[in-house]
Amino acid sequence: MLLTTGRLSKALQLTLALIKPDAVAHPLMMEGLHQSILDNNFVIVRCKDLLWGRQDCERFYAEHSERFFYRRLVEFMSSGPLRAYILGREDAVGHWRELMGPTKVFRARYTSPASLRARFGLTDTRNTAHGSDSAESAQREMAFFFPDFDAEEWMRSEEPAFRSGRARYDPRRRVHALCARS
Ligand code: GDP
Repeated sequence: MLLTTGRLSKALQLTLALIKPDAVAHPLMMEGLHQSILDNNFVIVRCKDLLWGRQDCERFYAEHSERFFYRRLVEFMSSGPLRAYILGREDAVGHWRELMGPTKVFRARYTSPASLRARFGLTDTRNTAHGSDSAESAQREMAFFFPDFDAEEWMRSEEPAFRSGRARYDPRRRVHALCARS
């Protein structure tokens, strides 16, 4: 039995992570990324593959609508399947962003060669992954991708059990689930 969460004293935080189309197009890369999530002690609370319409991309990246890369970004993000995760960990927002590395792939290769963007990214647009940049963005972005997921309810009813180490990874569903009490 694989228990990913040990006993932790601090509450788990949730974040939204995306794997972008450049990586999802390559099954081996996708496997490597998924394994990195597990190796870095995140619990996978939700995981789903989806295709994004252009309007969804425009809405999601509205804050960048005046930037020179906006059109390119929208084209790219709607060009193929994405994978969306809700990840849990102590300080999940910061840990996931650290694991992704800097936005720009060439900078990532220079300053954070072990990061996901350094290892798998192709260009500044096709940079493999997205992660919420604050707890507030995480709430908004989780609701965007997982409208049926109630983060407050999860924190109340499931977080304590996940934190105390009663979560097991289910490779078939690619998520962690609580073990039955013995
Ligand atoms: P993130 O939080 O690290 O993803 O960075 P941002 O929120 O600033 O940007 C959102 C996404 O826009 C990035 O992940 C890139 O895909 C893209 N992007 C940001 N800056 C640039 C840039 O200078 N050039 C290009 N081509 N794309 C960029």
